Amino acid sequence: MPEGPSIVIIKEELQSFTGKKILKAEGNAKIDIARCKGLKIADFKSWGKHFLICFDGFFLRIHLLMFGTYRINERKETAPRLLFKFRGSEFSFYTCSIKLIEGHPDDHYDWEADTMNNDWNPKKAAKKLKKLKKTFVCDALLNQDIFAGVGNIIKNEVLFRIKIHPLSLVNKLPAKKLKEMIEDARDYSLQFYTWKKAFVLKKNWLIYKKPICPRCKIKAERTYLGKTDRLSSFCTKCQKLYNK
Ligand SMILES: [Zn+2]
Repeated sequence: MPEGPSIVIIKEELQSFTGKKILKAEGNAKIDIARCKGLKIADFKSWGKHFLICFDGFFLRIHLLMFGTYRINERKETAPRLLFKFRGSEFSFYTCSIKLIEGHPDDHYDWEADTMNNDWNPKKAAKKLKKLKKTFVCDALLNQDIFAGVGNIIKNEVLFRIKIHPLSLVNKLPAKKLKEMIEDARDYSLQFYTWKKAFVLKKNWLIYKKPICPRCKIKAERTYLGKTDRLSSFCTKCQKLYNK
């Protein structure tokens, strides 16, 4: 599933379509696609894993789910969910979820919760985390109301970088470690973005899907953990468990 930084990259890749008039609007998404025909794209935005195509008065919210993709000036063989044609150019989205939402994104999204947004607010994240109390950190990091855009790769890498065991409890983390987790969720997201753009993201994974802990040189654990039941890669020796 594409994480926040990947959605920001899509936004950048489509940026040149801003202000362009849609000549043809097609696709099998169950929304009123025809409404977009003849309109100019006002803006592209992203919030966490949501990609937004904005018009005057409404916007389309695209979630790429597990296997969503997009193409610019070329097509996949499968039927597109959404296809916008412009004079001499086009883009299309596949195997994704698309919703048409009335109003302005500002009325629907808290930009301060998006780890990739300039408005990201770590203090607000700390406040929300304190309310969670007995929650595993591996679940808390995936909570999109707190860390919009953080996905499974970011979760695993952050916990490894700051040496916290994924089954540690949020309310048992020392204040310093809690702060570190919030800071690194943002820092690693920005790092992820830079690496992804340079096609070296995977090469820089330290623990995600790795057989050996690069710090301790012992076998790394790989198992599904937490209420979210997502894959966790971690080291039992250097990642401390805070649960008492
Ligand atoms: Zn280790």
